[in-house]
Amino acid sequence: MMSSAAMTSNGHDHRHQYTTHDNSRGATGSSKPEHAAPPLSRYESQKRRDWNTFGQYLKNQRPHPVPLSHCSHTHVLDFMRYLDQFGKTKVHLAGCAFFGLPDPPAPCTCPLRQAWGSLDALVGRLRAAYEEHGGSQESNPFGNGAIRVYLREVRECQAKARGIPYKKKKRKTKAVAATAAGEGHGGSKPSLMLKEHHQIS
Ligand SMILES: [Zn+2]
Repeated sequence: MMSSAAMTSNGHDHRHQYTTHDNSRGATGSSKPEHAAPPLSRYESQKRRDWNTFGQYLKNQRPHPVPLSHCSHTHVLDFMRYLDQFGKTKVHLAGCAFFGLPDPPAPCTCPLRQAWGSLDALVGRLRAAYEEHGGSQESNPFGNGAIRVYLREVRECQAKARGIPYKKKKRKTKAVAATAAGEGHGGSKPSLMLKEHHQIS
């Protein structure tokens, strides 16, 4: 569990989620590998935090903690629903007067949820982390088809509730990785608030 820094530099480089993020930033601008342990990229540290959060979530399950080897896509789905309480995205209920309005004129009592883009990026990071921690690609619960279905439902539901038709936002991927590094949203909550737009296909 502790050795992910050492493991991330080998293998798995074919995975699309991080081909654009690795090695993109040097602390000093120098390309010389003089540090034995260079600081983690934002993506890598985010991934590590996500993994720890998920591990904690499994440990906290009642009546018994869930060992990683028993983790299925059902736990992943429950985890995503659990995270909604920390969300920052207003998703209007069907009965709300502002349902479908992209820019509501007043506050309402509809719940805040995790934005689809945040969940999508989260699943991508955890999917990678799972395999870096020894899980096999075949059994990877984050790669399960049920997760894709769930994410698609969330995307469509949020697009309707907010009146914003979903469009691919590929061009944002790079900018987010580069500019969001300095932003923090409080350390006590799961660090999932930043919007990212990685595509899982
Ligand atoms: Zn509302």
